[in-house]
Amino acid sequence: MKAGRARLVAGNWKMHGSLAANQRLLVALKGSLKPVSGLDYAICAPFPYLAQLSDTLAGSGIVWGAQTISEHDVGAYTGEVSGPMIREFGCRYAIVGHSERRQLYGEGDAAVAAKFMAAQRNGLTPILCVGETLEQRERGDTEAVVGRQLDAVLNLAGVAALRSAVLAYEPVWAIGTGKTASAAQAQAVHQFLRERVAKQDGEIAAGLTLLYGGSVKPGNAVELFAQPDVDGGLIGGAALVAEDFVAICKAAESLA
Ligand code: PEP
Repeated sequence: MKAGRARLVAGNWKMHGSLAANQRLLVALKGSLKPVSGLDYAICAPFPYLAQLSDTLAGSGIVWGAQTISEHDVGAYTGEVSGPMIREFGCRYAIVGHSERRQLYGEGDAAVAAKFMAAQRNGLTPILCVGETLEQRERGDTEAVVGRQLDAVLNLAGVAALRSAVLAYEPVWAIGTGKTASAAQAQAVHQFLRERVAKQDGEIAAGLTLLYGGSVKPGNAVELFAQPDVDGGLIGGAALVAEDFVAICKAAESLA
């Protein structure tokens, strides 16, 4: 454990999968990943597969979660899936504010903060994603953007809410593009985020699990995860290939 912090490698399957393909992948993961103290492995799958994850992964040491969540718990919200429903499938995590949700589905900071609250209200650990576009980075706005995205949650939920949350820095220009932030770029933003939380509560900041996401692969995982403020990864494409996801998890394990 880095400085006493819990670490996590979480796969985000996005809108990929089928019952048969998932089963092959999950069985391979279960065979290769054994529980490690202070390090969690998780899979965040599309809603229809949560029952399959619950059936297949129960007792394995790999936990699971959803990729988004409604800000409401019940009601006339056609097409939405609520925290109590997700919870019934044994989920540990819910991703909130993934850049694809922000960009493609118009989820703004206020909606993301409300989803963060919905996850916690229902006993789920939110994985809050923040990150800048390439244009914003080139303009020198990275810290302003991720700071604003973080503040939206801090202002609504309060800093104490970060005791049971995970923060993921995912530069939009690195997601699914094959372009990874350098270890130094990732560390700089992670340090900025941790210091921003520390301004409100040093102890919570020191214990906050901070993930990097954006084209993490077996070949770059060790260098990224070795950075002092990087506590694991949120993994998209490589989470769909058993040997790649296992290799990334082993990279985290090797640094434990
Ligand atoms: C993601 O989906 O959160 C992600 C980081 O994707 P990729 O690893 O494919 O860049």
